[in-house]
Amino acid sequence: MDNMERLKAAIRGKKILLFGPPGCGKGNRSKDLEALGLVHVSSGIALRARVRDDPDSGLSKKAVNFMKRGELVPDDIVVPIIMEHLNREECRKKGFVLDGFPRTKAQADILFSQINIDLVLFLDVPRKFLLYGIIEGNRRVCVDCATGYSDFDPPRVEGVCDKCGGKLIRRTDDNIHTIENRLKLYDQQTKTFLQDIKKKANLEILPITVSDEDIIEDKYLKKLKGRVYWVQTDQGGKSRMLNLKGMRKRLYDLLAEKFATSVRRD
Ligand code: ADP
Ligand code: ZN
Repeated sequence: MDNMERLKAAIRGKKILLFGPPGCGKGNRSKDLEALGLVHVSSGIALRARVRDDPDSGLSKKAVNFMKRGELVPDDIVVPIIMEHLNREECRKKGFVLDGFPRTKAQADILFSQINIDLVLFLDVPRKFLLYGIIEGNRRVCVDCATGYSDFDPPRVEGVCDKCGGKLIRRTDDNIHTIENRLKLYDQQTKTFLQDIKKKANLEILPITVSDEDIIEDKYLKKLKGRVYWVQTDQGGKSRMLNLKGMRKRLYDLLAEKFATSVRRD
């Protein structure tokens, strides 16, 4: 069995929660975890799917109104959709990666009272990059598999998803006004219960930045027009950042350390 197979076996059935602000890479880390066999449950994707499948229902119309403005969809709509999903046979068997939920204290209380989460991963991205990555980096997502790209991590062929060949589009709510709103809501309603989660679950931080002492191969670093990109950190310094490949490696290394002590690391 190679390392990847060992990691898959060790991670099977695990319930992992991704936590972090809009634009921190929850979607792409979810894809990385999906590749290990977990079911990806995303509140944003689930809500958009519900609206697409049943556009004329009262529930869909109500949800759309909140989503268009970047506001939180009320708990009585989101909670049943997500909890139903997590209780499906597939999620119980294979395990899941939950992304975008909980976003309020009430959502967190329901989730943690009903489900035993094995690991919470906090995706730590400098504030400066959150807006920058989405707006200046021109974030685009695959309509079929939801993989995200930007000018920092461009697809091999513009407009086409590397993974599945799907079409890449810009999300209509990826505009400066909505994102500022989404970030504000994250600060006010979501970040505030991170301390609370820490008490209830096993929490690990997954930083996107690379410290100066870290020796990292060039192929793992974010670049813009061929040059290594430096970002201003929240502490005021400057740091290099990992690209999609680098973050996947960091994530898998962390999981191997946590769940599969027998996985050889190289
Ligand atoms: P992002 O994380 O980039 O803001 P998502 O795709 O997760 O995007 O969410 C898109 C929109 O769906 C949010 O702006 C919000 O309106 C709604 N939404 C998603 N998850 C939740 C949630 N857990 N609670 C309330 N609303 C949500
Ligand atoms: Zn795709």
